Amino acid sequence: MNDLTAHDRPLLQVLNLKKHYPIHGGLFRRQVGSIQAVNDFSLTMRRGETVGLVGESGCGKSTTGRAIMRLIEPTAGTILFEGEDITRIKGERLRQIRKDMQMVFQDPFSSLNPKMMVGHLVSEPIRNYESRTGKELEERVAELLVKVGLAEDSYYKYPHEFSGGQRQRISIARTLALKPKLVVADEPVSALDVSIQSQVLNLLQDIQADFGLSYLFIAHDLSVVKHISDRIGVMYLGRLVEITDKKSLYKQPLHPYTQALLSAVPIPDPNAKRERIVLQGDVPSPANPPAGCAFHPRCRHAVAACREQQPTLKQVAPHHEVACHLYE
Ligand code: SF4
Repeated sequence: MNDLTAHDRPLLQVLNLKKHYPIHGGLFRRQVGSIQAVNDFSLTMRRGETVGLVGESGCGKSTTGRAIMRLIEPTAGTILFEGEDITRIKGERLRQIRKDMQMVFQDPFSSLNPKMMVGHLVSEPIRNYESRTGKELEERVAELLVKVGLAEDSYYKYPHEFSGGQRQRISIARTLALKPKLVVADEPVSALDVSIQSQVLNLLQDIQADFGLSYLFIAHDLSVVKHISDRIGVMYLGRLVEITDKKSLYKQPLHPYTQALLSAVPIPDPNAKRERIVLQGDVPSPANPPAGCAFHPRCRHAVAACREQQPTLKQVAPHHEVACHLYE
C-alpha cells in the first residue's frame, strides 16, 4: 500500500552529496588535502517544481548541478532519479538517463558549435537518440525553434548571426529536443543584458508547463531566481544553509547569509526601506574551510559556539530549514 506511483514519486532525490577534489603535493605527489566543493548536500524535487540554488561564486552550486547531472563523479552520496539510483551508473544506462536530464549553460556561444547550422545544432540530440530523419526531423526542429521564439528560417543560419539572447534560445531549443524531465540551468541569464534576462526567464516559465519540466535553477543573485522558483536553497561554501518556499525566503530569511544576500536585492517600492548588510571579506577557500560554522568569520551574529560546532540543516518552521545556531 505504501508504494508510490511513478507520478507521486519525487523526480529527484539527492542525499548527502559530496564532491571533494584531492590536492597533491610534495616530492611523491601524495594527497595533502582536498578542495571541499560540495558537502552533505541533500535535496528532494517534485515533478514540475522549480528550485533556485543561490550563493556567491565559489559556493559549490555549479559543482552540485554538474554532479547531479553526472557530468562529474560525486565523491560520496546518493542521487535518485525517478527512484532509480543513478550515482554510479555508466555506459548505455547513463546515456539513456541523460535524455531525461539536460543542462542549459551560462554562455550559449561556447556551448554551441559555431560551424554548425542552427537546424543541425537543434537536431543533433534527436539524431543521437532517435531514428527520425528527413522531413519528420526538420518539422520537429522547426516546431522547437518557433516554440522558443525564433523564426523558422533560423534553421539555416549560424550561431554568430544571433544576439546573446537568441543564442540562449537556440540552446534552450536544443535542450528541449529530447523532452527532458529535469533541466539544470546553470546561470542561464547571467551573461545577458538585464532587458533580455526577463525575456529568457519568461520563455523558461512558458515552456515549463508545455513540456512538464522541472528546473534546478542556479544563480548568484536572489533577484534572478525570485520569479521563476517555487523553492529556493542558499549555499555557502559547499553547504546548503537555508531552504524554503519563495515567499518565506523573501519575507523572512532566517540565515544571516541569506539576510545579507537579500539586503542587496533592490526593492521595487521607492518608499520601502531595507538595511543593506555588507559582507566583509570573501568566501573562504574550500581547501581550508573555517572550523565550526563556515560563515562565522563574516557573520555579525557569531557567538562562541559558531567557531566550534558546525550547525546542521534543521526544520525550524513548516517547509523552512536552516543551518544556524541561532535557531537551535
Ligand atoms: Fe552566524 Fe553562528 Fe549562525 Fe553561523 S551559526 S550563521 S556564525 S550565527
